[in-house]
Amino acid sequence: VILKHYVAGYLKESDMEFKNTNIKLNVPEGSNIVVLKNLYLSCDPYMRTRMRKLEGSYIESFTPGEPITGYGVAKVLESGDSKFKKGDLVWGMTGWEEYSVATPTQHTLFKIHDKDVPLSYYTGILGMPGMTAYVGFYEVCSPKKGETVFVSAASGAVGQLVGQFAKMFGCYVVGSAGTKEKVDLLKSKFGFDEAFNYNEEQDLDAALKRYFPDGIDIYFENVGGKMLDAVLLNMKLHGRIAVCGMISQYNLENTEGVHNLFNLIVKRIRMEGFLVFDYYHLYPKYLEMIIPQIKAGSVVYVEDVAEGLENAPNALVGLFSGRNVGKQVVVVSRE
Ligand code: NDP
Repeated sequence: VILKHYVAGYLKESDMEFKNTNIKLNVPEGSNIVVLKNLYLSCDPYMRTRMRKLEGSYIESFTPGEPITGYGVAKVLESGDSKFKKGDLVWGMTGWEEYSVATPTQHTLFKIHDKDVPLSYYTGILGMPGMTAYVGFYEVCSPKKGETVFVSAASGAVGQLVGQFAKMFGCYVVGSAGTKEKVDLLKSKFGFDEAFNYNEEQDLDAALKRYFPDGIDIYFENVGGKMLDAVLLNMKLHGRIAVCGMISQYNLENTEGVHNLFNLIVKRIRMEGFLVFDYYHLYPKYLEMIIPQIKAGSVVYVEDVAEGLENAPNALVGLFSGRNVGKQVVVVSRE
């Protein structure tokens, strides 16, 4: 799947192209490259930001005319790197293609040891989004038992886990999502105390006051824009906002202004952005916690699975209109 050009405005399927080409898969003598057969690919909102010309960002732009890259689960076909051998399963940075050639560096390719769980989970709960929820909630939010927590984009890859972690921690948790189906899922499957459909609310401030009459201690920010402005009006004294993402802004050429920032001062709020990449050293600790919980069924994970690499562009576009229900995965091959 090739990015045709830098993208302006809302991402469209036609900004990408599905093309067949032949690539050489041999590992030259002395090289440390790894040849991968891609099994599952992850659709992630940040990929949209790589489709414009970036300067001085934490990540590089995609190259127009080249295959898109992103997180995925793959099988090692050949390896010039002593850390990986033929037949290993890995997750990490790969290409939106059937076969990829990767040069592993620290934290770009992780060996999969526990195969007793769905492999696709390594694009979600056991991969980057899972780590994002874990470090965002436990490391950035500084939660205390009994606090009130609000999560936006709550049914997504990250949000559904933040809600479950916060509930297990003993917090009161409310989520917002864009459809009735997602709101039902938040309450019935993920155990949120309350949930609402932000598309049905005329006044987001009033909606938040309904669920948080005494205010919000922790806001896990996934969307930005109007929701952030409404949340700022409802934060408690010494509240914390973990700024994970702002998906409502990713397709805009001029991002929306935020009007209520003065509340940060008045209420002594700590608002902290974070990037999951800075925390990958905690991955083994996270796996130790989460794998037993998955196996015991005390944490659940919902995926939205698109079949076939040719359907990957459509799946990625769907993130920005909320078409995905749960973690958006693309199956390239099941073995
Ligand atoms: P999701 O699985 O939640 O998919 C995106 C969801 O965002 C959609 O399903 C939709 O749900 C919602 N959405 C889309 N457009 C809008 C909009 N204009 N306004 C409000 N909601 C919208 O994605 P992830 O869980 O993977 O990612 C969630 C956030 O976390 C993103 O902002 C992402 O960039 C960020 N992130 C940050 C990381 C970091 O290191 N800081 C790492 C990983 C993710 P709905 O139907 O509810 O509208």
